[in-house]
Amino acid sequence: MEQAVSAGVTRLVAMGVDLERSRGAVACAHRYEEVFAAVGHHPLEEGEPDVDALRELAKDDMVVAVGEIGLDFEHIGGPERDRQLQRLQEMFSIATDMDLPVSIHNRGAEAELVAAISAHPGIRGVMHYFALGWDWAETFLDLGFYLSFAGLVTRPSRQVLREVVTLCPADRLLLETDSPYGNAQKRMGVANRPAYLVDTAELVAELRGISVPELGELEGANARALFRKLQ
Ligand SMILES: [Zn+2]
Repeated sequence: MEQAVSAGVTRLVAMGVDLERSRGAVACAHRYEEVFAAVGHHPLEEGEPDVDALRELAKDDMVVAVGEIGLDFEHIGGPERDRQLQRLQEMFSIATDMDLPVSIHNRGAEAELVAAISAHPGIRGVMHYFALGWDWAETFLDLGFYLSFAGLVTRPSRQVLREVVTLCPADRLLLETDSPYGNAQKRMGVANRPAYLVDTAELVAELRGISVPELGELEGANARALFRKLQ
């Protein structure tokens, strides 16, 4: 936390991936003023979500989103697609009931996610760890979603993603680390951490032709607009 704050990363959203770790995220948010929490059940988690307990937990003042939720059709041995789709509906119902945005994980399920979001007009949120090209970016932007970019954009092979970073409307752009995953190119092989967001921010600012502080201003404003309880 000290490293993050001294690097200029002053607001963090800790994601929940199951009930226990969602409780952990909420506890962390109560402990550190820079941290806010999201609660949810990740598509690759085994076991069924305790939807009622997650909904109750989502009432906490420090909970700013339902996440990390979504669909992952690429992970070998992950839960069946039908089960994942069922869970997604349950997580969307919590978000709707609590009037919270969602943070969505997607691997190989963009068409199904577009269908699910379109079927829930009240759902708003962010596509976390965005890794697709501009056509899909536009589709999610048209649905009102934000795009969140991580260390992936710093990999030289990701030219298509860099184009999305350049084209993304200024009022829909977010940044994340996805710690402990999602390392920037220069930190391959080490566990990612919030302070390293700066690596991504430097490249995104360069691609958009603005300074890092300017990027910080607009990204912070976007985060507060989406995660309304985040201050
Ligand atoms: Zn994810």
